[in-house]
Amino acid sequence: MAAIEDPLDVLDQLPDAARIRSRKLSGGVATIVADATGLSAKDAAELERRLRSAAEAQPEISEVRVAMTAAQPQRKLIAIASGKGGVGKSTLSTNLAVSLARMGKKVGLIDADVYGPSQTKLLGTDERPTATAKRLNPVQAHGLSFLSLGQLVPAGQALAWRGPMAASALGQLLDADWGDAELIVVDLPPGTGDVQLSLVQKARPAGALIVSTPQALSLIDATRAIDLFGKVSVPVLGLVENMAGYTCPHCGEQSDPFGSGGAEGAAEELGIPFLGRLPLWAGLREASDAGEPPAAGDGAEGKAFAEIARKLLTQLETVDG
Ligand code: ADP
Repeated sequence: MAAIEDPLDVLDQLPDAARIRSRKLSGGVATIVADATGLSAKDAAELERRLRSAAEAQPEISEVRVAMTAAQPQRKLIAIASGKGGVGKSTLSTNLAVSLARMGKKVGLIDADVYGPSQTKLLGTDERPTATAKRLNPVQAHGLSFLSLGQLVPAGQALAWRGPMAASALGQLLDADWGDAELIVVDLPPGTGDVQLSLVQKARPAGALIVSTPQALSLIDATRAIDLFGKVSVPVLGLVENMAGYTCPHCGEQSDPFGSGGAEGAAEELGIPFLGRLPLWAGLREASDAGEPPAAGDGAEGKAFAEIARKLLTQLETVDG
């Protein structure tokens, strides 16, 4: 007697047969589980469609259910936060992301600064993300993948992101097709509001990096941000002091418009690592405005960002281990 053929054997003929993890036919209902590891959202949708149509073509099969699984890459989120605006949080986020990418890491960058997403400008791109199977495809710039809240609305259309709207937009950015990104740097809005809490709820960051100027006022606010992460058990990876000291390009005189050393002392008092100090650089602002992150170059600024990025990775390993 000839063996009873399984109508699902037809799947073995497909070039994707190796991706099928299980298949079952019961009462005319076919259930297929396939592994989409490493595929883009578009290719995964294509694979699902091929499996479905091959099974549907069998007269014995009346319904087809396809489930796609994927081994998620071990992806870590790094939240970049500050107590107040204007301290250089976005500048640091972009440049650290670029430095990390130059160090060989696969990096994604999310601009979640509801008060004024600026990463498109800092990265010098106005390309808008496409979407496949309801997921956004990040834009590629300076060796990293990136998405910004600012890309979700037509250019020039001002939008006050707040509350649930900001949370749902952040969810869309987090759920995007980040491919093989192993690190995602998230530029948070300043302060301790809804977006910070939604990030913690939706995607538990591996750690947070706090940016402050040396000024006492900025430091008090930074301490509040540190408290917030402490309360929700997100490790603080360290504190970076920005706009510390200024060297006059004409006479070489050193001055400290925002004080000096304040952040390092505060980090010590709070028992969190101090990851470095960035001076006020006229060239940094100009390069940022021109969409050329200094971390992409080999000048003093690029080296300073790379140094902080290295320390950040060490901290990330420490909190992980
Ligand atoms: P935040 O994200 O904290 O609001 P930004 O990164 O947008 O701050 O920085 C505010 C402004 O300060 C920008 O114009 C930026 O180019 C400038 N800036 C930031 N850090 C420095 C620095 N170390 N030297 C000079 N300008 C800086």
